[in-house]
Amino acid sequence: MNNIRTRFAPSPTGYMHIGNLRTALFAYLYTKANNGDFILRIEDTDQNRFVEGATQVIYDTLRVANIKHDEGPDIGGKYGPYIQSERKSIYKQYAEQLVEQGDAYYCFCQKDPEKEEEAQDSSNGYDRRCRNLTKEQINENLNAGRSYVIRQRIPLEGNTSWDDLVYGRISVENNTLDDQILLKSDGMPTYNFANVIDDHLMGITHVIRGSEYLSSNPKYLLLYKAFGWNTPEYIHLPLICGRNEDGTVSKLSKRHGAVSFQALIEDGYLPEAIINYIALLGWNPGTEQEIFTLDELIYKFSTQGIHKNQAIFDYNKLDWVNSEHIKKLDHETFKKEAFKFSGIEGTILESKWDYISTLVQSRIQKYSQIPEMIKFMYQIPQYSTELYINKKNKSTFETSRNYIQMAIECINSIQDWNIDVLNSSFMDLSANKEIKIGQLMWPIRVAVSGLTITPGSAPDIMYVIGKEESIKRLESAIEVLP
Ligand code: GLU
Repeated sequence: MNNIRTRFAPSPTGYMHIGNLRTALFAYLYTKANNGDFILRIEDTDQNRFVEGATQVIYDTLRVANIKHDEGPDIGGKYGPYIQSERKSIYKQYAEQLVEQGDAYYCFCQKDPEKEEEAQDSSNGYDRRCRNLTKEQINENLNAGRSYVIRQRIPLEGNTSWDDLVYGRISVENNTLDDQILLKSDGMPTYNFANVIDDHLMGITHVIRGSEYLSSNPKYLLLYKAFGWNTPEYIHLPLICGRNEDGTVSKLSKRHGAVSFQALIEDGYLPEAIINYIALLGWNPGTEQEIFTLDELIYKFSTQGIHKNQAIFDYNKLDWVNSEHIKKLDHETFKKEAFKFSGIEGTILESKWDYISTLVQSRIQKYSQIPEMIKFMYQIPQYSTELYINKKNKSTFETSRNYIQMAIECINSIQDWNIDVLNSSFMDLSANKEIKIGQLMWPIRVAVSGLTITPGSAPDIMYVIGKEESIKRLESAIEVLP
């Protein structure tokens, strides 16, 4: 078999939608699982939508996501240029070839300013009024300097079929297809034309893209046929949907939450966790395993695991995947990365970040949760004294008052404020007074945090907030206790 060559062909929109990144990932995994080459091609022929710096966003995203291309605009390769706007003359030449062969035609219909599409394309497609112009009519128009587009002459009979590696055999009647524009009046190709020319010229063996392109695929196949080229294999990926408030699902969009790679990164997700999660959007390994490194994904990936059903983007699941990746991070990395989100820089707690970071690493789902989680360390929140009442720990107002008093005495006697001393002092206290450690610590934790669930134990919190602040919180607890 030929060397496998796939491509990722994003349009520079200024952000990387999760759906696009999923396409990149699946193409990359498929290629690397088969020792092939993964090509990056920038599809920027729609100059109206040009966004400054957008190509850089694509490079940056792939780099951060660790998806490495073997050829592309930034690194070159023997099939370049890899930016479509730099290939303008190539497309024109092929479009003219089709016109000569009779597989395409000049269309002089004026662009309707109200519509985005050039010429008069209705929902049923262009009405084909220029399809059968005579040579004289064409020349007359050209001589009059009228601008034109080049349209594909779709056969009016017959079927076009292919075997999609995910969707199976698909067959479409040609008379349902429209005479789509191949070359626009500015000489730029449409995506519909350029993708075929480039996939052929770049030796792409497998086209991997979203299922929104399924309906256009027969038109692409007819272009391959007109040129007499071999067609690549097709792997169309299922649609990614989001869950709406009313429980229904629809195509993933902003109203479902962050949907671009950058937005998720800004929200405190790890690149490797996002990649892990989106690998599961439309693919499953056939085992229970859900947490993967990129290398494991390459090893496990196969097209058999891709399903046709729409995939639902589940933020809770993403959170869980992210928390698993956070737990696996070596602590030094976590400390450094999480610091940027912690809001701790320049505060009284900054010097305690080494320790606080050990408390939060196993407890957060994403970095952005850290400020909220450690808020009580700066300032104790208003809390209800009801928190002191806890049946399981036999905690009452009375025991609470006693134990908090003991805690004040205990920490007053500590000279060397470190976590080991704090831990052992409270262990000793519990042993000496014959009070179960859980019972003893319940009210103390409430008193120093204003919470019943905290990152870390009561000694952890006391260590972080310091001796003076700990005593202050414990003393005011005694005041508020009834
Ligand atoms: N430029 C297209 C997009 O961004 C690429 C589709 C394809 O992979 O062929 O959706």
